[in-house]
Amino acid sequence: MLGSGRALWRVMAVLLMGLLFSASFLLRTRRHAARSLPAVAAGARAPAGRFRVEYGPAAGDLEAWRARLRRDRVLERAADRLNAFVFLPQDVTLAFNECGDDDAYYRKRRVTFCYEEVADYAELLAPAASGRLSERSTRRVEAATSFFLFHEAGHALVDVLRIPVTGKEEDAVDQFAIYFLEESGAPDMREDALRAAEVMGRLARADSADDEQTPVWDVHSLDAQRHANLLCWIYGADPRAFGEVVRRAGLPRERRSTCGEEYTQLASSWDELLARSLKEPAADVEPQPRALRPAR
Ligand SMILES: [Zn+2]
Repeated sequence: MLGSGRALWRVMAVLLMGLLFSASFLLRTRRHAARSLPAVAAGARAPAGRFRVEYGPAAGDLEAWRARLRRDRVLERAADRLNAFVFLPQDVTLAFNECGDDDAYYRKRRVTFCYEEVADYAELLAPAASGRLSERSTRRVEAATSFFLFHEAGHALVDVLRIPVTGKEEDAVDQFAIYFLEESGAPDMREDALRAAEVMGRLARADSADDEQTPVWDVHSLDAQRHANLLCWIYGADPRAFGEVVRRAGLPRERRSTCGEEYTQLASSWDELLARSLKEPAADVEPQPRALRPAR
């Protein structure tokens, strides 16, 4: 009697462990499952919009950036990945332009990313470089640029898909960029988010050294907050892969403890918000050229 009781307990324990394992597997894969649900099979809708690309003219030093970004197909790669991820009702243009100012913004179905903004990232990420940037530094600048292109693409999606936003849209589209990088299934793309966090960190340090009033009124969160947020969401997406780098970048334990929940919440929110517009994973994505893989 005692023996068969033990055997029964053992069977129940095994069943319980199996159940827990399946539940944790389901939880881990839930977002991806949700992403393949939405389901509009490709071709079920009339062909609608796409992200398109445009390299505006540039002069002087900026011409070198134009040539390099074009050679590395930075816009085409961003557009291909976005087009593989979502359906658009109308075309949206991703454009590099010489603006006379360092800026990047979205207006009327057009992302304008100034070459001057890219040049700024170079100064922030490779401050000691005099003249020509090393290959590694150039790739880091392109990675940060890609992240901020996805941030701008987030503004475009909010507009053309009429996505509701509460709170700061700037924070919401930073979250979109992280979510997109994590969920679009190209692991080396996550270099983009780390380089963007580095840009924000360096901007935050520059802010604290200058005497100007802290722009608490700005539509963006403060650079130091954006820096911490990006680190937190990168870490929350994959604590094992990014624990060390995020700790070294100075994100305190107090914040790290909530990052997993924050990432889960933002990812399920974007899943929900984009549910009617997401494509099946991995549709028409071009393999990334080897030369552009970020340095480890
Ligand atoms: Zn923005």
